[in-house]
Amino acid sequence: MTETSTKTPGRGWQGAVLKLFGADDFELTVTRSEVVTDHYLRIGFSGGGLLSAKPVHPTLWVRLWFESDGKLHQRGYTLVDADPATDTFDIEFAIHDGAAARWAQGAQVGDTINATVMGSKFEFPEPAPAGWLLAGDTASLPAINSLLDAISASSTPTVPVTIWFEYQHESDKTLPLRTRDGDTVHWVAREREGTALVDAVRSAAFDAGDHFGWVALDSKSTRAVASIFKGDYKIGRKSVKSQAYWVEGRSFG
Ligand SMILES: Cc1cc2nc3c(=O)[nH]c(=O)nc-3n(C[C@H](O)[C@H](O)[C@H](O)COP(=O)(O)OP(=O)(O)OC[C@H]3O[C@@H](n4cnc5c(N)ncnc54)[C@H](O)[C@@H]3O)c2cc1C
Repeated sequence: MTETSTKTPGRGWQGAVLKLFGADDFELTVTRSEVVTDHYLRIGFSGGGLLSAKPVHPTLWVRLWFESDGKLHQRGYTLVDADPATDTFDIEFAIHDGAAARWAQGAQVGDTINATVMGSKFEFPEPAPAGWLLAGDTASLPAINSLLDAISASSTPTVPVTIWFEYQHESDKTLPLRTRDGDTVHWVAREREGTALVDAVRSAAFDAGDHFGWVALDSKSTRAVASIFKGDYKIGRKSVKSQAYWVEGRSFG
């Protein structure tokens, strides 16, 4: 007789470390799914208490646990339009070949997924910068939009924002970027593993010591652009925030 394993997949050492540091877990439930483009989905969730327990800040992200190869893998995802009054939010998924992207493509209303909250932080800079320089891609589009919303709601809503946005598919250029009048967007096709965008940022350098820089791309490009912001643009170390959002050619997390 063949025995079927009913073992629940474990979270491995990452789960153990997060638990040790007291990270909180929530069960999210899918409430709707919307195709935004052929490579981008928006999924609605109710938060299982997440938004009563955790304050919302721009770029707020959670660690979602996806099953693949009999194990659970954590991946970072950003909350979109979080509404604490109803404990609901959306998450937007850039689609490629990965466990998280596959889960999003198959998600049905009523499906659940676990989220761990730990590590997300962003403090709006004080005093307000003279301008913002943002570098991102479809994975960081939700975070960029949350920054644009926060800037619009700040004491300096008309401060100029320049965005270098890396795209991989023509349809990415139709994605809803929440830019305002006066903002500048440089659309850069992903070429040479991200160096096209890095070169575009470098070639536009000016003395931007009074600006704030924010970067979230693949890991190599993130490091390169953060270093250009600090070196060529002369932005102070504390005024550059960078985080790698994914790794070219391999799983992240
Ligand atoms: C703080 C934080 C917030 C994030 N927020 C979001 C978000 O809101 N929406 C979102 O879509 N992503 C977001 N990401 C990125 C997301 O976590 C990664 O893209 C993740 O690797 C996806 O997991 P996966 O299981 O689908 O693919 P993986 O198993 O990690 O990777 C499988 C393959 O896909 C490739 N790959 C992974 N991500 C991408 C990508 N973005 N573009 C092209 N190829 C890729 C890898 O190089 C690898 O070859 C965030 C990451 C962080 C750290």
